[in-house]
Amino acid sequence: MGRLRTRAASPVPNVSTPIFLKSAAAPADFPADEGREVAFVGRSNSGKSTALNLIAGVRRLARVSRMPGRTQLINFFEVGAQRRLVDLPGYGFARVADETRDRWRELCEAYLTRRRSLAGVIVTLDIRRGLTDLDAELQRWLELRGIRIGFLLTKTDKLGHAASLNREREIAAQLGPRRDLLRFSALSRLGVPEARRWIDAWLSADPVVNAAEDRVP
Ligand code: GDP
Repeated sequence: MGRLRTRAASPVPNVSTPIFLKSAAAPADFPADEGREVAFVGRSNSGKSTALNLIAGVRRLARVSRMPGRTQLINFFEVGAQRRLVDLPGYGFARVADETRDRWRELCEAYLTRRRSLAGVIVTLDIRRGLTDLDAELQRWLELRGIRIGFLLTKTDKLGHAASLNREREIAAQLGPRRDLLRFSALSRLGVPEARRWIDAWLSADPVVNAAEDRVP
């Protein structure tokens, strides 16, 4: 019945329920670079797995882990014909060996630089913590390559309404003008429909244009 699914039946309008495709520890394991995909990336413990599960509408798609840095794998999920969601390993965890950190960099840089089907990246930021140096480095790095970014300010429920709006303003100022950001909460589901709309739009158009040259610095 998959083909008869209506738009309303799916949490992301043009996207069907995700099916796990594969885990990749090296670029050779990435699935064929065709169609379009959206990747989730964020500092460890920033709520990335929780956000991905909620947005995809699947309870345990990405494993919510209390053991940061364990997996240095990129997980691919199919959400339609040549449409994928991709879970990148978290970064910035304390107490990991340099070797683990280097492996993260190598694997994720290989993915983010070579992946032609990458239509956009969702970056999770804990709203209380805001933009750390590593997040800012990732932002600069993605923007240099013209890769579209949507920032989710996660765990908004941990702040009061006024405080969360203040934090949003502060983080927006750190990110710079015309950046896409959303206050997000897994608890209240704040921001979930909007995040789904981003992903739906990014996965819909064809072909991918990561046009760094179109960007005004
Ligand atoms: P990851 O390491 O970035 O994938 O982070 P996780 O998704 O594992 O989340 C880290 C912790 O934060 C877990 O205990 C989650 O239950 C919690 N968490 C994630 N998102 C939210 C949120 O929106 N609100 C609250 N209150 N807790 C959250």
